[in-house]
Amino acid sequence: MEKIYLQKTDAEVADLIKEELKRQENTIELIASENIASKAVMEAAGTVLTNKYAEGKPYKRFYNGCEFVDKIEALAVERVKKLFGVEHANVQPHSGAQANMAVFLYALKHGDTVMGMDLSNGGHLTHGSPVNFSGLYFNVVSYGVNEEGEIDYDEVERLAVENKPKMIICGASNYSKIIDFKRFKEIADKVGAYLMADIAHIAGLVAGGVHPSPVGYADFITTTTHKSLRGPRGGIIMCSNEHAAGIDKALFPGVQGGPLEHIIAAKAVALKEALQPEFKTYAEQIVKNAKALAQSLMDENIDIVGNGTENHVMTIDLRKTGKTGKDVANLLEKVGITANKNTVPNDPQSPFVTSGVRIGTPAVTTRGFKEDDMVEVGKIIASAITVWDNETALKNLRERAQKLCDKYPLYKD
Ligand SMILES: *Cc1c(COP(=O)(O)O)cnc(C)c1O
Repeated sequence: MEKIYLQKTDAEVADLIKEELKRQENTIELIASENIASKAVMEAAGTVLTNKYAEGKPYKRFYNGCEFVDKIEALAVERVKKLFGVEHANVQPHSGAQANMAVFLYALKHGDTVMGMDLSNGGHLTHGSPVNFSGLYFNVVSYGVNEEGEIDYDEVERLAVENKPKMIICGASNYSKIIDFKRFKEIADKVGAYLMADIAHIAGLVAGGVHPSPVGYADFITTTTHKSLRGPRGGIIMCSNEHAAGIDKALFPGVQGGPLEHIIAAKAVALKEALQPEFKTYAEQIVKNAKALAQSLMDENIDIVGNGTENHVMTIDLRKTGKTGKDVANLLEKVGITANKNTVPNDPQSPFVTSGVRIGTPAVTTRGFKEDDMVEVGKIIASAITVWDNETALKNLRERAQKLCDKYPLYKD
């Protein structure tokens, strides 16, 4: 991945990219929202397509010269439709947040009531957080999870009946159980609300058939392309034909200007990868690895919210250790493991400190880690928390992490 031109014109940036590659190669990536895109995906992203303005939709653009980007974007759209079995797809969202914003703009009016999962319970900023547009311009009713980290669907129904939201959002950034889309649809129907499913985290699992699909239940489905789907950074919106024109208009010109056709090309490449039989095996392995990691940690006497995971992600509950999520996430970085602090249900600590660490397996699974490697990762994490500031012991754990990194190179050629 030598950057010949970049090295010549801007060695400063080129060198920093090299350093970042080294960092990724030599750390165990457990941030649940990250993954390792293929070289083919990155190649498509770094192309002349970045030069092109293409406001509008394929074959209906506001600019000339779109002959080839039209075909590329149409390919990406077709692949989304095939992969998820949806009637309509828009592949232009620059990110998951933009995808969600477009759905809000289409489905809601300023001040309408919307229900979403609370951020500190595993929801996303764009599901009604007071610091986000979704919370600033809409009347938000939040639902959470119980002490086991599970959505209480009866409580969601009660809140919906009481507050009559115009839209209910399901989907999360930190939720380790299977989401019952059918139940959400029943609740939405009961109160006449739209249902939006944000599958940003689980898109790869849905695509690989290891998590139920919201298709047929949700009016709008949004996702990112860079998490378990393993594509470039970006978003997608899916819906039925009924909402297609309105959703497209909400995204452009409502939320965005020109689409990133180089990223759309990279999305097309990632979608082709996701359509291969090997991707199903990959998705299955993500879940197997997550279960093995959760079990390993619990065997080492580390608490996991909800005592395990049904998908790719879990939260270590540190409350009984007296340590905070912030300190443990920093500690793990020292031993070569990257993860992020996260709140646990009813967290006594602030969101900047927290009592939990969120960990997930999409990235390490891409590298080739299997269940026995996850057992070793669990042991390294548990030991790190125990030895804490014993520098010699930490150094030893760092070496064990490095061994795993060396066993599974980031890019094989
Ligand atoms: C990551 C995420 C998003 C936002 O994605 P960005 O690309 O970071 O804007 C939206 N919703 C959920 C549930 C997410 O996990």
